[in-house]
Amino acid sequence: MDIPAQNGAEFLRSASQQEPLEQANKLRPGDFSSFTGQRKTVERLQVMASAARSRGDSLNHVLLSGPPGLGKTTLAHILGTEMGVGVRVISGPVIDKPSDLAGVLTSLEEGEILFIDEIHRIPKTVEEYLYTAIEDFYIDILIDQGPNARTVRLSLPRFCLVGATTRVGLLTAPLRNRFTLQSRLEYYDQRDLLTIAERSCLLLEMEAEKEGLLEISSRARGTPRILNNLILFARDFAQERSGGVLDRKTAAAALEMLEIDSNGLDEMDKRLLRFIAENYRGGPVGLKSLAVGVGEEVQTLEDVHEPYLIQEGYLQRTAQGRVLTDKGWQTVGLPMPDGFQEQFKSY
Ligand code: ADP
Repeated sequence: MDIPAQNGAEFLRSASQQEPLEQANKLRPGDFSSFTGQRKTVERLQVMASAARSRGDSLNHVLLSGPPGLGKTTLAHILGTEMGVGVRVISGPVIDKPSDLAGVLTSLEEGEILFIDEIHRIPKTVEEYLYTAIEDFYIDILIDQGPNARTVRLSLPRFCLVGATTRVGLLTAPLRNRFTLQSRLEYYDQRDLLTIAERSCLLLEMEAEKEGLLEISSRARGTPRILNNLILFARDFAQERSGGVLDRKTAAAALEMLEIDSNGLDEMDKRLLRFIAENYRGGPVGLKSLAVGVGEEVQTLEDVHEPYLIQEGYLQRTAQGRVLTDKGWQTVGLPMPDGFQEQFKSY
C-alpha cells in the first residue's frame, strides 16, 4: 500500500479543510439525533425550526461561528432536512460582485436555505446588498451607467440565510446584527468525540476496540473532521499493518506515522512553539512574522493552529503579540525565564 507522503501538518491542514467527498457524505450526520455534542446550539436551532414549522413560516437567519470542521455545514443541511427545504451552498469569496449575489438570491425558492460559508470574506461592496435582502427580501440593483443609470428593485422569496464564519470578529456590525440567532460552536470534549468515532466505525463497517478509538479521539484536537480523517487513515493502517483491527497499539502507530503527538500537536504546532521560543525568546511576536517564520499561511495559523494552542494553554494572545505560556515552554523542552509572563497583559 502507498502510505500518503504527508507529514502531520499537511495532514491537519487538509483534514481541517476537507475530507474526501464520498466519505464526508457517508459520515455526515443527517439529522439532529445523529449529531453529537454542541448541545446549546442544537437546542436553539431545534426551537427555531420547530416554531417556524408550526407557524408555516421560513426560518430566521442564523450565524454559526467557530473553527473549521466542527459541524457548521452539517447543521445547515440538518436544518434543511428538518424544514423539508433545499439548501444552497456557496462560499463567501466566490461572490465577487453584486450581480453574483443577485444571481444567487433570485434563483432561490420560497423557504430555501442559503448557506454562505466564510461569510466574513464577502467583499464589503457586495455585503451591503445583503442587508435589504435578508431584512426585507429585496435588492436594488443598478443597471446601466452614466445618464441611463437606473435602479431596479428585485423582490426575493422569503429565504433563510445561514452564515458560517471562522472569525465572527471580521463581520461588520450591520451584517452581524441582522442574524436573529448567533451561535458559536466549541471544540468537542473527549466523550462526544468517542461517540462520533464509534458511529463513524459503524458506518464504515470497521472493526475497532474502544482503546484504539480513545487513542485517536484524544488526539483529534476536539474536531470531528480531523477525527474522521484520522479514523480513515487508521483504518488503512490497520488493514495493511495489523490484520484490520484498530486496537490501541495500531492507533498509536498510525498516529506516529502522521507525526501527531500524544497531545494532538502536529509538526506545525511544535515548529510554531519552537520558533517563538528560539527566535523571539518566548514572544511577543505578531502573526505575520510567525507565518513567515514557520512557512505557513496567516489564515491557517489563525483558524486552525492558534485557537487550539490557546485553548489548550500553550500560547497566550496579549496586547503585544503571541506569547508562550509555561506549558508552551515545557513542550519545547526549555524552562520559562524568570518573570517572563508578568511582563505581558493578556486580552
Ligand atoms: P464546518 O462546516 O464547521 O467546517 P462540517 O459541518 O463540514 O464542518 O463538518 C465536518 C465533518 O465532521 C462532517 O462531514 C461530519 O462528518 C463531521 N461532523 C461534524 N460535526 C459532527 C457531529 N456533531 N457529529 C458527528 N460528525 C460530525
